[in-house]
Amino acid sequence: MGMSRLGSIDGEQFDVVVIGGGIIGCGVARDAAMRGLRVALFERRDFGSGTTAASTRIVHGGLRYLEMLDFRLVRLDLKERETLLRIAPHLVEPLEFLIPFVSGMPVSPLKLRLGLTVYDALSPDTTLPRHRILSSAAARHADPSLDRNDVRGAAAYYDARVDLPERLALENALDAQMRGAVIHNYCEVVPPVSADGEVRRVHVRDTLNAEEADIRARAIVNATGAWWEENARVDTGRPAGRIRTTKGIHIVCPAQAERALVLFSAVDRRLLFAIPRYGQTWIGTTDTDYAGDPAEAQATTTDVDYLLTSVQAMFPKLELGDVRYTTAGVRALVKKTGHPSAVSRMHQIARDVPSPGVISILGGKITGYRAIAEDAVDAVCRRFNLSARCETARTPLPGARGTASATEAPQFLRALYGGRALEVMALARDADLEHQLAGAYPDIAAQVVFAVRSERCRRVSDFIWRRTRLGASADQGWSAALRVAELMGAELAWPREQIAAEVENYSREVSATRAFKAP
Ligand SMILES: Cc1cc2nc3c(=O)[nH]c(=O)nc-3n(C[C@H](O)[C@H](O)[C@H](O)COP(=O)(O)OP(=O)(O)OC[C@H]3O[C@@H](n4cnc5c(N)ncnc54)[C@H](O)[C@@H]3O)c2cc1C
Repeated sequence: MGMSRLGSIDGEQFDVVVIGGGIIGCGVARDAAMRGLRVALFERRDFGSGTTAASTRIVHGGLRYLEMLDFRLVRLDLKERETLLRIAPHLVEPLEFLIPFVSGMPVSPLKLRLGLTVYDALSPDTTLPRHRILSSAAARHADPSLDRNDVRGAAAYYDARVDLPERLALENALDAQMRGAVIHNYCEVVPPVSADGEVRRVHVRDTLNAEEADIRARAIVNATGAWWEENARVDTGRPAGRIRTTKGIHIVCPAQAERALVLFSAVDRRLLFAIPRYGQTWIGTTDTDYAGDPAEAQATTTDVDYLLTSVQAMFPKLELGDVRYTTAGVRALVKKTGHPSAVSRMHQIARDVPSPGVISILGGKITGYRAIAEDAVDAVCRRFNLSARCETARTPLPGARGTASATEAPQFLRALYGGRALEVMALARDADLEHQLAGAYPDIAAQVVFAVRSERCRRVSDFIWRRTRLGASADQGWSAALRVAELMGAELAWPREQIAAEVENYSREVSATRAFKAP
């Protein structure tokens, strides 16, 4: 099964080839397909498995950027926050943050109030409540972790969270496919991209079975994020020097607070988040220059210590032994010199970079992905002298359609699939797949089969980390791994050894999230 994914497109010509299936590349594919272009997207691993999967999962204007007076970025992202709440309400939801007023804060409560007033003013037509200031009594009441004498009050403000940006990327890819695009995960574009007159030649390789294809493209959008320099180097034979890469990690611990908190590091006063997620607390992030392969990024003991020391005053009982696992990912920032945290997060669309016919997307956040994709596809359309309007801001993503009729589906299914939860339930009924994968989670067997048949799930880790929330649980989905592998194996005709190899591969990925524990 799936043996000749690339064979069927060998020799074909596309209007646009998108390299990279993170949130931004998937957003580009959807936008371009909606404008009637013939699109192919290739992702070397799984959709959303790169930096997208390592994020703090907040859809936000970024209070921090306000301090840098980056009003343009903040306004853009706040507008996109509204758009995402509208087109993907099953994946993006409002989240209130508390900023406790404690001694030693780098910003005075007065300055915070001022900042939040500006933040509110920058999104005049938001559907979210405005910020408010809590008295010390109200703050202590708001969260058990704040019930202490040194908490003098708090500011509360709204942003949104995208709990599974991996699924947001996937739904963009699936929607592009429904509109005629060719979308492949586990297929990489092997540079260099060469020119043949006005047309680009692209060599593609299936990373699961080594099958290859040569295709042609009238334009290429390079959305490889933190891998951009690596790809550009092969294209041009020298480093392009346009991207600065910094690593960011999170630690995952038993619940420390019930609410999402904004804290300031006791080490260097940087702004940090402590966010509740499935009964645990995720704390992050760091921002340190990183030169290696982004796919190999791991949290080190030093990174973990920094976060623990940073939040010690707020969570005095939290220690190294409590940290269950970590996440690590690499940001791609438009290059400037200075401290990494002081670099603007504003994206850039670079035309004919690193080579003619290539439109490169540099930088950008998840929050702004749709607007960034729009910019990139506008650039493609200009090249083609095409005046097709962008429709992505008002067209709901697949899971956001038919949500009204899905109210009979259990909440955990709706939170993953939106209206498509009904398809999962129908499959469960018809194929007798209603049983749970393991006692610890609500997830059922039908989801595995659905993931393989309808969501491009190719590996056990795709399902556990990126099609569901299993990977975010305390045991990172471990107790379901073998069952998932068996169900996938039946669906994809895997030999027995491959079932074992897939579980083994998943267990190696789990170990990487715990590497900081090794001496
Ligand atoms: C610690 C951390 C926290 C963050 N928190 C937030 C947050 O809360 N909110 C927010 O909005 N943003 C946040 N960000 C930023 C956000 O995660 C990124 O800006 C965003 O995910 C980038 O998406 P992307 O599609 O450009 O990159 P990626 O998701 O990395 O996608 C690029 C893809 O290209 C693929 N690729 C590379 N080379 C090839 C090739 N030759 N062929 C095929 N495929 C290839 C890679 O496998 C990868 O999947 C955070 C980032 C970090 C590191």
